[in-house]
Amino acid sequence: MLFIDQNDPKALAQAFEQKPKLIWVETPSNPLLRITDIEQIVSFAKQHSTLVSVDNTFLSPIHQKPLLLGADIVVHSTTKYINGHSDLVGGAVIAKDPQVAEDLKWWANCTGITGAAFDSFLTLRGLRTLDVRLARHETNAAKIVDFLQSHSSIEKVYYPGLKDHPGHAIAKKQQSGFGSMISFKIKGDIEQIKAFLSRLNIFSLAESLGGVESLICHPSTMTHAAVALSEQETAGITQNLLRISVGIENVEDLITDLATALKSC
Ligand SMILES: *Cc1c(COP(=O)(O)O)cnc(C)c1O
Repeated sequence: MLFIDQNDPKALAQAFEQKPKLIWVETPSNPLLRITDIEQIVSFAKQHSTLVSVDNTFLSPIHQKPLLLGADIVVHSTTKYINGHSDLVGGAVIAKDPQVAEDLKWWANCTGITGAAFDSFLTLRGLRTLDVRLARHETNAAKIVDFLQSHSSIEKVYYPGLKDHPGHAIAKKQQSGFGSMISFKIKGDIEQIKAFLSRLNIFSLAESLGGVESLICHPSTMTHAAVALSEQETAGITQNLLRISVGIENVEDLITDLATALKSC
């Protein structure tokens, strides 16, 4: 396995020299919401008979349809937006080629990783409100981005909807919305970050995302704790980075919660 910056054409060309069977794309990426141009990856992959798989968890099919952009396989953690209620763990794999789908189905059955009946029922139930939930998630996210951008204790906000986000143009081209995951850096050290987190009342400190309730995560010590500190730094995951999954609560309550907790910073 080789990890590369998929926005770097030189790194891509070098990686394809090794004739990979599969290229795995996660866009927007976790936690810095970097955007990868799916069509560009597909055009590289086609020349090398490489399958393109896209992890579409952060946007759901409402906002991004990788198969229409040329991808071969789409993966979703249905734990997140598709179920949307933080009460199960599940996933979905969608393949363009019926034979690839058949092979994956065989493996799922063979290894026993298919969803339990009740979890599947809940997922289908959650799916019915995906569109309306996402609309609310996103209007809330836009207002929180505005709030964070204007706050003097915030060093930087990462959100593909911002014009100065390096992937903004590609996001606009291949997505129909910017999603409701936001990352930001607070001006302060780890102690100030801890104080900020402990003052939040509505946002729960948790690694998951995509549920109706707002969550906040400290990537360095949570989702990316297994990555060495020096590698975290290289990847831009600094100690003062936080990631929020904006829920569908009253947005004024969410902003008040953030504003109150930021007073300590
Ligand atoms: C959560 C997540 C996963 C893993 O899914 P689980 O349902 O937790 O196993 C994979 N990719 C992305 C982008 C995720 O957010």
